[in-house]
Amino acid sequence: MKASGKPLMPRQKAEHTVTLAAALLVLLGGLLAIAAWRRTAAAPMPRPAPMPAPAPAFTPAPGPLSGLTILIDPGHGGYDGGARCRDSGTWEKHINLSVALQTEQALRQQGAQVVMTRRTDADLCEAERPAGLTKKRQDMQNRIRIAREAQADLVLSIHMNEYRARTESGPQVFYRAGCDSGRLLAGCMQQALIGHLQPQRQRAAMAGDYFILQLDIPSVLIECGFLSNPREEALLLTEEYQQRLGTAIAAGVVDYCRLAAAQ
Ligand SMILES: [Zn+2]
Repeated sequence: MKASGKPLMPRQKAEHTVTLAAALLVLLGGLLAIAAWRRTAAAPMPRPAPMPAPAPAFTPAPGPLSGLTILIDPGHGGYDGGARCRDSGTWEKHINLSVALQTEQALRQQGAQVVMTRRTDADLCEAERPAGLTKKRQDMQNRIRIAREAQADLVLSIHMNEYRARTESGPQVFYRAGCDSGRLLAGCMQQALIGHLQPQRQRAAMAGDYFILQLDIPSVLIECGFLSNPREEALLLTEEYQQRLGTAIAAGVVDYCRLAAAQ
């Protein structure tokens, strides 16, 4: 604020000081208000409990899997990248999701209803966690909760493998020891993967101790291939191979249903 050239009279001077003080007060008030607003804006919003990822509106066509609700669980996500490709550096979580979405399409084409534990690169952790509960455990508990709430008939958890030795390769399916339906599903899945993908190394389904396999419904964890194997990593990163995996996994479920119905 520039005063006129003339020197100020005492009264004018006093008024001028008051005006200046008022302007400063208004300015200070404004700055305080902005600071308060910024504090509010920066405060973390409470995160609601993760809900099952909504599926796009879909009426399954009639098929061999009609009436079946299948939970697909793309492993890891968000803060948890899982294993990492040795050559490209791509995280397992991204490949898991791509293969899971291909599997969803393939299963729907066979008539199944599909529920996904995630459709984006997100973990299933909550803002609040009881003392002693790790992030990983809470994330896994929420995946099980989604399966329960969806009243899933079957669980397919999609993962990628890795190993120190880069020569290890081939898909492998795991089930919970003592769960006969899981073992049957795993056997069908392993054969379907071998039949559709013709991997160099043909592995056998195995019992494995995984949190996601705890429900009393046929559940399998599918290690689609090794991210540590250069040839398999290259394959797993292509959309074409991811689609073939989806088709193979859906075929494994169809084979299982046929066998289970005959028993
Ligand atoms: Zn994994």
